[in-house]
Amino acid sequence: MTPSAPATTQNGSAHGFFAQVNRMFDAAAAHTDHLEGILHQIRACDGIVRFEFPIKRDDGSIDVVQAYRAEHSHHKKPTKGGIRYAPNVNVDEVMALAALMSYKCAIVDVPFGGAKGGVCIDARQYSAAELERITRRYTFELIRKNFIGPGVDVPAPDYGTGSREMAWIMDTYNQMTDDDLNGLASVTGKPVGQGGVRGRTEATGRGVYYGVREACSYARDMERMGLDAGMAGKTVVIQGLGNVGYHTARIMQDEGDAVIVGIAEIEGAIYDPDGLDVDAVVEHRRTTGSILDFPGARNIAESAKALELPCDVLVPAALEGVITEENASNIQAKIIGEAANGPVTAQADQMLRERGVLLIPDVYLNAGGVTVSYFEWLRNLSHVRHGRMSRRFEERNAERILRAVDELTAEHFDNELLDSLIERIGFGASEQDLVNSGLEDTMAFAYDEIRIIREEKGVDMRTAAFISAINKIAKSYADMGIFP
Ligand code: GLU
Repeated sequence: MTPSAPATTQNGSAHGFFAQVNRMFDAAAAHTDHLEGILHQIRACDGIVRFEFPIKRDDGSIDVVQAYRAEHSHHKKPTKGGIRYAPNVNVDEVMALAALMSYKCAIVDVPFGGAKGGVCIDARQYSAAELERITRRYTFELIRKNFIGPGVDVPAPDYGTGSREMAWIMDTYNQMTDDDLNGLASVTGKPVGQGGVRGRTEATGRGVYYGVREACSYARDMERMGLDAGMAGKTVVIQGLGNVGYHTARIMQDEGDAVIVGIAEIEGAIYDPDGLDVDAVVEHRRTTGSILDFPGARNIAESAKALELPCDVLVPAALEGVITEENASNIQAKIIGEAANGPVTAQADQMLRERGVLLIPDVYLNAGGVTVSYFEWLRNLSHVRHGRMSRRFEERNAERILRAVDELTAEHFDNELLDSLIERIGFGASEQDLVNSGLEDTMAFAYDEIRIIREEKGVDMRTAAFISAINKIAKSYADMGIFP
């Protein structure tokens, strides 16, 4: 779901991003029978803070920084969502993104309300020390306003922020609330050594892979587009080799046996119908400063043209609004996996659907990040690494079972075979295994729910995803006994 025009600073403007999210919401709500009052409550942004603070630059000058945090829905606590550092951050965008977080969490059954924060800066213009001062001051303001806390509102990385900023937030929170035993759970996306969970970094990309793979597993849906079921052998073009794009491409290639035929970045794009080795491309870019001139691949000077390459699956994993009414009719992909937020404009969405293209919506497909944030939050509240209590026990159990089977077999396995069986299947789950399997289950289950709604209501996947979110949030209000 995308603003077809850039978001403006108008709060509640009919043309703003938040209004566009609400229009999408209303289109989906028309397929439900909830009371208008309930729909109004779900749609409304429950709370928002806006503040400005001074920050001392390294050269002694002072900048005044504008910042926001929106808590869109308190139907579940805490609220959850990233903090972005970008020069175009504004109140309308923050509210829209917070609303999308509410719907995203509901779709994948992550028990949080939605939130989003924003600091209006171009992070590249600030030194690490300046960014640390900004992040700590921003956190301090959130604490004073009760807009952060393990049971209140839990930030995470977003555009322009990462694990380093999350560690500063956690440290500031802990320093100021030193009696809070659960201080680690005040923010997610932290470095693993600071209470982060293994697998969070690649979680969004991994979630994109699981979501696209689930879509490809339905033979009937694939048949309609003239494709075979399954991810293996599917040709894929990825736009953006950042965190999400890179991990999506790598995991699709390594675990899904997909063929990555095209990769686009800011400097241009490369295409090889026989497949590009994703890690080799990253290494080539690291050493030469560009993905262009990758051995064996064809250069495409205009990066955006990569979206029009022949492929089965197109994954825009960079900017919003890259597929518009201008280029929609040139898109050759049969499936579009929206890894970025809002890569397809409303007009392009309609044009593509009319042509039978399967659009897997962002509000579902990039939910892997918040899903694994939920696992990190659980880890922090339980004060123990996932799998710590059970790993060795599971390992021994598997070994015991294999040895028992061996004893029950009249002719015993030879020792080498037994040892190799124990090594191959007799292991306990590590934290990474548990995180990945929890994420896989979450993405597969949510896809199937949305797909059933799509079939029942005769709508597209995006509308179905919003219907799923609306029904779940309405139910949680009903369960609280607040509304009928
Ligand atoms: N910023 C990410 C998102 O928009 C992650 C949010 C989180 O982990 O709380 O989904």
